[in-house]
Amino acid sequence: QDRDGQQDAQWPPPSMDFSKPTIARAYDALLGGKDNYAADRELAEFALQNVPGLQESAGENRKVLVRGVRHLAAEAGIDQFLDLGSGLPTVQNTHEVAQAHNPDARVVYVDVDPLVTVHGQAILAENGNTRSFTADVRDPAAVLSHPDAHGFLDFDRPVALMLVGMLHYLSPEVADSVVSAYRDALAPGSCLFLTSLVDTGLPAQQELARITRENLEEGWARTPDEIEHHFGDFDLIEPGVSYTALWRPDELVDADDLTPGEQLGMAGIAFKKQ
Ligand code: SAM
Repeated sequence: QDRDGQQDAQWPPPSMDFSKPTIARAYDALLGGKDNYAADRELAEFALQNVPGLQESAGENRKVLVRGVRHLAAEAGIDQFLDLGSGLPTVQNTHEVAQAHNPDARVVYVDVDPLVTVHGQAILAENGNTRSFTADVRDPAAVLSHPDAHGFLDFDRPVALMLVGMLHYLSPEVADSVVSAYRDALAPGSCLFLTSLVDTGLPAQQELARITRENLEEGWARTPDEIEHHFGDFDLIEPGVSYTALWRPDELVDADDLTPGEQLGMAGIAFKKQ
């Protein structure tokens, strides 16, 4: 159904093939969610067998999303969030975290997987300060001009643009132009929140990228410098680009004693100059 409760003309859309895994559903399987099918669970299982700590890494990515959004809503005064590659709703979604601190915070979810929008709209039907639509992040013009983005968020004021657990699905050919188009569209005081599969020389990192590329088309592990490059001339806040577990942790984490799963992803938040 769409937001007005109308039944879609064709559901599921022909583009949806439940015999093949999708990123959103396989990630949901890794997180222990229910919105996945046999093909997604098989891929998740295969990846778990080949990449030590993968499940923990998915959990760490969700945790840093929560800490990052909490910081932005509670301490940085951000009240608009554009969550790109938002994934299937799970616990502590961006709008829940942001609106716990500011009930007026507006959140827009965008994902290429139509199932995300269906589940998102069902959950968000009661929440007037959220929107969810289907689009490909690699088309910034389409995303930014969509009525649920452009007409709902005020791009003359600060917006938090999130590519959380998403940067590694942008190939080296398109990542620069895509991310810089989003940076350019933001008003001063806005920020970019990135998390990505990282390459610090551990074999599991490139192995995960390879498994993801082979089964889900895209999957790229980037060095910390390559991740930092995507912030352009924005100002990184402490601790800069760091392993997700070390990004403003709620409890002290020993940087010299990270588990394999804690070394798969990095996170960072940077603000556009005023
Ligand atoms: N942001 C959530 C998080 O960090 O927990 C979900 C991350 S999940 C690993 C990545 C999401 O990005 C999936 O839901 C997938 O469908 C979406 N995605 C991948 N490529 C995309 C694209 N080109 N455009 C829009 N969404 C995309």
